[in-house]
Parts: sequence; C-alpha cells; structure tokens
Amino acid sequence: MIYIVVPCYNEEAVLKDTTEQLVALLPRLSLPARILYVDDGSRDATWDMIEAFAKAHPEVCGIRLAHNVGHQNALWAGMEHVADRADAIISIDADLQDDIEVIVRMVDDFRDGADVVYGVRRDRTTDSFFKRATALCFYKAMNSLGTGTVYNHADFRLLSHRALRALMDFPERNLFLRGMVPMLGFHTKMEYYDRLERKAGETKYPLSKMLAFAADGITSFSIKPLRSIFFCGVLFLLVAVGVIVWALIEYFDHNTIAGWTSLLISIWFVGGCLLMAMGVMGEYIGKMYQEVKRRPRYFVMDEAGNI
Ligand code: UDP
Ligand code: MG
Repeated sequence: MIYIVVPCYNEEAVLKDTTEQLVALLPRLSLPARILYVDDGSRDATWDMIEAFAKAHPEVCGIRLAHNVGHQNALWAGMEHVADRADAIISIDADLQDDIEVIVRMVDDFRDGADVVYGVRRDRTTDSFFKRATALCFYKAMNSLGTGTVYNHADFRLLSHRALRALMDFPERNLFLRGMVPMLGFHTKMEYYDRLERKAGETKYPLSKMLAFAADGITSFSIKPLRSIFFCGVLFLLVAVGVIVWALIEYFDHNTIAGWTSLLISIWFVGGCLLMAMGVMGEYIGKMYQEVKRRPRYFVMDEAGNI
C-alpha cells in the first residue's frame, strides 16, 4: 500500500479539487494507494472537509494535529503515522502545485526498485523573479556549505518502506527534510516536472517563514559558519602582520603621534587572536552540536548469505 501524505493548513479553498484529482489518479497507479491528509491545526473548515471526504471515498483518510506545528513537522507526523503500514509514501503539498502525473512515474520507479524518488522542478517560470533569485542563492549556499540538498527539489518525493524507516531513525527536532533525505542514500531517482501556480487560497510560506526555513536548513546541517570564524581570525592576523610592519615604518619615520602605533597594532593583533580563539571554541561547539543530534551512523541496504 502506498500512502500519499498531504499536509494541510487552512486549505479549504483547494481541498475539494485536490481530493477529486488525487482520487481520480489512484486507479491509474500501478500499485494500490491511499490518500492521507494531515490537518496541521487548521482554523478553517479543512478538518470537516477531510472527514467528509473520508466518508465518501474509502481510499481517503486523515489525521488531525492538535495545533499548528508547521509544514515539516506535519509531514513528519503523517509519515510516522503510516511508517509501519506503508510500502512507500509520497509527500505532496495540498495545493497541487506539483504535477500529480509525476506520481504515476514515481510509483513505476518504486516498482523498479527505487527507494527515494525526488520530484524536481524543471524550471521556475511560475515563480516571481524574487522567489527565483532567492531560491537560487539558497540552493547554491546550501551546496557550498556541504549539505546534499537536491537542486530545485522541494518536499515532493517518494520514499520506500526502508527509506522511510531509516528517516524515522533521525531523532532531531529541527526538521529540514530536503537536507535529511539525501543523507539516507539507497537507490535514488529524479523525476522532472513543471511546477504550476497555486490554484486557490494563498501561500502559507510568506517571506519571513521562508527566510526562517532557509536559516534553519543551513544551521541544521552545517558547521561551516562556525568554522569560518576561525578563518576570519587567521585573515585578521595576516592583516595584523601587514599593519604592524606599516605602523612601525611610520613610527620610525616620525610620522606618527604618540600612542597611534601601539593602539593600531593591539587592535589588529588582539582582534585576530580573539577571533581565532572563538573559532577554536566554534569547533568544539560544532562537535557538540553534531553529537546532540544523535543521528544514525549508517543504514544497511542489503544483506547476502547467512549472517
Ligand atoms: N502547510 C502546513 N503547515 C503550515 C504551513 C503550510 O501543513 O504551517 C502546508 C500547506 O497546507 C501546503 C504545504 O504545507 O500543503 C505547502 O505550503 P504552501 O503551498 O503555502 O507553500 P508554497 O508552495 O507557497 O511554498
Ligand atoms: Mg504551494
């Protein structure tokens, strides 16, 4: 059984359409599938609609979270709820901006042995210039910081049972799924599609949330910002050497007023030393931070012979 997990927050405007489209899609999939709505503490009629759909269609079900926990947590809740039952899950947003035709291909890939199938946007023409530019910067930054995020992939993906079980082994609270899933490994595929505009309702990700999410992504996955403090310190000390030489030359040329040389030298030298010391502390804090995450060390993919 494949579960299509759909987090919903105040989505009454799109839910009817979404349900119709998804229900019509199910018979076309090569494996049996169900739709699992996760109501993320909506304050509109979302839950009543989910209950009504669940009565009308046997393949629709839902869970309701007691309060709003955000997209990533809502998705996690849905996945965890069916982790033992599902042979695979597909996560998709309620507004169906992502092409549901891709689900057909994802299920076929799963039958062919894929464990993780990423839905990847072919281009971003439906986005505003601003969103496109910020998104590009974000993915570039994430990659240069050493996280394995997939370019232009959001949270539209298939996970097989074993990939899902592996993901559930991550005990961390700050979820950034598109950084975590690439850490799983397993057999991976990409499916490309064009993203549509939101049909109704409005985005639940205004700029402030988007920025917070991006910052979360970086700080949840990378200690490079901490490490960069150390290199700033090294840079400062190098500059300090130049400043010291220059200040001494000026001093012996009698071009300076009293106190200038000693002040200038101390500022640069002490500044550099302080930054380097902070960088060293940063290394330890970075280690602690990775330890407290208690992430799993490995996942076994296959076994052979009698162990
Ligand atoms: N969502 C959620 N909880 C929240 C915010 C959003 O479950 O606190 C859901 C929302 O219902 C939608 C998905 O997350 O299914 C993505 O939100 P949206 O489409 O507004 O984001 P965008 O596509 O604009 O980035
Ligand atoms: Mg959307």
